[in-house]
Amino acid sequence: MKNKKKIIISNRLPIQIERKKDKLIIKPSTGGLATGLNSAFDSSEILWVGWPGIVPKDDAEEEKITELLKPMNLLPVFLSKEEIRNFYEGYSNEVLWPICHYQPSYIHFDREYWSTYVAVNKKFCETALSIPQSPDFIWVQDYQLMLLPQLLRQENKELNIGYFHHIPFPSEELFMNIPQRKELIEGLLGADLVGFHTFADSQNFLNSCKKILNVPCGHNQLKHKDRHIFIESFPMGIDYDKFVHASSLPEVNAIATQFRSHFPDQKIIISVDRLDYSKGILERLRAFLTFLEKYPESHSKVVLYMLIVPSRDKVSQYKKLKDEINRKVSEINSIYGNLSWTPVLYFYKSLPFEELIGLYLASDICMVTSTRDGMNLVSKEYIASNTRSNGVLILSEFAGASKELVDALIVNPYNRTETADCIYQALIMSPEEIHERSEANRQIIQKFNVQHWVRLFISRLAETKAIQRDEW
Ligand code: UDP
Repeated sequence: MKNKKKIIISNRLPIQIERKKDKLIIKPSTGGLATGLNSAFDSSEILWVGWPGIVPKDDAEEEKITELLKPMNLLPVFLSKEEIRNFYEGYSNEVLWPICHYQPSYIHFDREYWSTYVAVNKKFCETALSIPQSPDFIWVQDYQLMLLPQLLRQENKELNIGYFHHIPFPSEELFMNIPQRKELIEGLLGADLVGFHTFADSQNFLNSCKKILNVPCGHNQLKHKDRHIFIESFPMGIDYDKFVHASSLPEVNAIATQFRSHFPDQKIIISVDRLDYSKGILERLRAFLTFLEKYPESHSKVVLYMLIVPSRDKVSQYKKLKDEINRKVSEINSIYGNLSWTPVLYFYKSLPFEELIGLYLASDICMVTSTRDGMNLVSKEYIASNTRSNGVLILSEFAGASKELVDALIVNPYNRTETADCIYQALIMSPEEIHERSEANRQIIQKFNVQHWVRLFISRLAETKAIQRDEW
């Protein structure tokens, strides 16, 4: 039916709010999901529920924010500092994030985490259901809201609910370690369609369902509480045209040319990641060190330029990781560097969009060495931006993107020698082979873009509802 609201619920709303003196400045931030949604629907049909990214000073400011967001079709869920600490930084990022990224040793659990996670999921549920009109569908995003599908279902059995898990889903042996495993699984099974980036993630989830609930499962579905629930993979794409367009802009090309001019005699390897233990930053540095040991003929002819976007660096594990990266970079530079050559250049900052594309354009090789990654959008952005198809992508087999970008050089980042050999292979690869591999990857990224991803998920959600109705 036209004009029925389509509700998106995510931990964060797609905006940035800044408080300057007593003024509130709201800037929309169009991530991939928002772009995909805008291409599939009239923006007036979409209502987005989520945390606005700010703790209001008082009730008056809360009301003011709510009013400012209303014309943008954004409905805020306000969280206290304590809720942010226990729900977001705590249960979501210190329990679910490490488990889903196969790093159980990073788990930190406080008593308040779980009860706050439950309470905040309920808060999101109440806000979403405060909308008077029954929605066309509700699409819940990501691991911070794993209980929400079931909470919504309890309130209204007829709802059409989708859930997408943007990070990996671990094997059942690992997932079984979570004390609240049953509640989390049942939480997700409130949805009609549960989506993951890869087939392996969807199978891991089904295996956990089998083990925890003892229910029979097909390869893409299961029956729970008399409902058929579909579990499928939907690899997320990027806004391909946006990257192609940006790479054609004169100012972006000027940035790329200027950047290249600093390294006239060298090949440039870049990496772009948030500071996170799942990104394999230390593994990359170790492999680069092995490369320099094994291939002395490459000395002075290559630089590794690492852009690390600041993230969670108040958390002790992240601070420690940052210190270890600093140490490793200086170790490599002091062993191999000289007055005219610094092998590793490392920047801890984020770049404006145009500069990031300039960096993608100027480089010869992009290295993605995640030890686990839901998808990894940087790998897709690199190929899309490099419209001359003259860059090599080295991609970890543990990033979701490796299941689609099969023409990249796929590596196991834990294997230093293999990764070092791959760097060498990339450096000596013929322009024809580079072009061929890059074009093959480009076709996939162009076709399976973010607009396609949104349409596919939403149409599949409608289909699952129709299948459920036919069963009755
Ligand atoms: N990015 C950014 N500013 C930067 C560097 C990167 O906005 O200075 C973006 C990049 O374009 C990409 C995202 O950060 O869209 C990283 O996404 P990815 O899936 O690779 O990793 P995530 O951080 O989501 O785990």
